[in-house]
Amino acid sequence: MKVGVLALQGDVSEHVQALADLGADAVEVRTPEDLGPVDRLILPGGESTTMSMLLESSGLFDPIAARLDDGMPAFGTCAGMILLSEVVLDGRPDQRSFGVIDIAVRRNAFGRQVDSFETELEVHGTGLVPAVFIRAPYVERVGDDVEVLARVDDHPVLCRQGHVLAAAFHPELSGDLRLHELFLREVN
Ligand code: GLN
Repeated sequence: MKVGVLALQGDVSEHVQALADLGADAVEVRTPEDLGPVDRLILPGGESTTMSMLLESSGLFDPIAARLDDGMPAFGTCAGMILLSEVVLDGRPDQRSFGVIDIAVRRNAFGRQVDSFETELEVHGTGLVPAVFIRAPYVERVGDDVEVLARVDDHPVLCRQGHVLAAAFHPELSGDLRLHELFLREVN
């Protein structure tokens, strides 16, 4: 199984390392050609406005959108969550998202007073998982078909809808591989 990591910007190498540690075949995706052989895709943390622009200029936006519509499994972390969301609030006016998970996210709004923090989350079916939040998106609305797998203060931070998994935090920065494992094993 080839697992793509969108490699236009952000914490790409941390995801590649996590996948390598799990024995998966990680592929950095920068062009439509790179996307071809990939079975599933991780969208990393970083800056969603920049990634949105680079998705356009690289010609990757439409091919990724088509693959996602075809059911390619995807995992977005932080900026990656924003890119997968149906509605992006406080984005740039020209910012685009793939709209494959029915949530509304507000950029940079989670834990605004502290900006960044670490905590432990109770993830449904997995147990306690360390989580790093950095200028994280705040999930303001969750559609009926979305399963909430973890919350902070009653607030959704890990959501799944069918073949799409999205985290407001950075599993790639905590050294805990269980959410990458969950993505590889259970999100299909
Ligand atoms: N604030 C960033 C954005 O809006 C996301 C932050 C992150 O990925 N750590 O894209």
